[in-house]
Amino acid sequence: MSDRTFRIGPIRPPSEANSLLIQVTNGCTWNKCKFCQLYRHTKFKAYSADSIRADIDNIAYWAERVRKYERKGVSAFAWDIEGINTELSNMTDADEQQCMYTVANWLVGGGENVFLQDGNSTALSSGRLTDVLVYLRQVFPQIKRITSYGRAENLSRSTAEDFAELKSAGLDRIHSGFETGSDAVLKRINKGVTQEQQIRAGKAIKAGGIELSIYFMPGVGGKDLSADNAEGTAEVINAVNPDFVRVRTAAIKPETELYQDWQDGLFELCSDDDKVREIRRVIELADEDLLTYLVSDHMINLLQSVEGYIAPGGCGAAGDQDTAGDREHMLGLIDRYLDMPEADRRVFQLLRRTLRAYDLGDMERLGAAEREALRAEVMKENDLGWNVRMNGYICRYV
Ligand code: SF4
Repeated sequence: MSDRTFRIGPIRPPSEANSLLIQVTNGCTWNKCKFCQLYRHTKFKAYSADSIRADIDNIAYWAERVRKYERKGVSAFAWDIEGINTELSNMTDADEQQCMYTVANWLVGGGENVFLQDGNSTALSSGRLTDVLVYLRQVFPQIKRITSYGRAENLSRSTAEDFAELKSAGLDRIHSGFETGSDAVLKRINKGVTQEQQIRAGKAIKAGGIELSIYFMPGVGGKDLSADNAEGTAEVINAVNPDFVRVRTAAIKPETELYQDWQDGLFELCSDDDKVREIRRVIELADEDLLTYLVSDHMINLLQSVEGYIAPGGCGAAGDQDTAGDREHMLGLIDRYLDMPEADRRVFQLLRRTLRAYDLGDMERLGAAEREALRAEVMKENDLGWNVRMNGYICRYV
């Protein structure tokens, strides 16, 4: 392998699609959540500060090469894209080509945001993480935002002062897969963390001045814990006031332990409607003074347009004209879906899972004959089976 390449890990949040990815760790320190097999065959590794610095130097090398194609002061789209593509297609080393492509993509997209990979980068010792952040900002002074994944249990061991130190070194946001705030559900999915630890971690991150983006998995606890899942999560949100709650609707993959537990009859899967009701309940229980924005940035979510500030009266205790209607809008969309006849709810699920609809309007615009044919098709599935598959995930009808 060329000594001009740098590591690129497998995952990033969708909101970091245009960010530069720098791998500071590999794998996950826990690796035992029952719904996740992402790093099952990867032994956790935290890279040394020298090795990460070497990667940053190589990124700087490729950035220099890409910047030859910058047309300064010409227009907002001031890049010779054709020139970049020609150089890329003439490269013979596939790894170098990937590195240059990654850096070009980042710079052409603005070159402002960076995401530190992988599953639990805040497991890097805080001294090492601080060094990396400082060096990164020194080499690329134009960076506006640096974010990272962190596991709640791990984060709960740090204080507000520790996070303030990371903030002043340059860490702006932590993404954390809380998944649920219910202790019973956390136990069922073997998340290895408690609600109390989540709240402690969340409060310390916020007090340290770092933005917090948590993930919520409607339906992950199964039918019997569905209410618990929503209510426990609402308790955490109300206690922590995270900046973002990102919805990742639960859909289990056949290779996971959660799938096996379901096969063994240990719990019953939630339907799409149960999951939508959980989201409704979380919004309904939101406290007035929350500044939290609910984000639906994954195609697995049934109602992807359900997004906005969740506090009653808008963003913050004083309310904000622009956000005052968010909560009612989200609840209205959910109710519009839940109030539809079962056949139409199934048709919409089918259209979403086969990527033929984005929101309810797409279904409502279908011709009468097409809609009738779809209704007849979905209502034939009397055994409410596991027949709607998307990207290998199993989604259940109504
Ligand atoms: S902490 Fe995250 S990456 Fe690790 S096993 Fe759980 S879900 Fe997977």
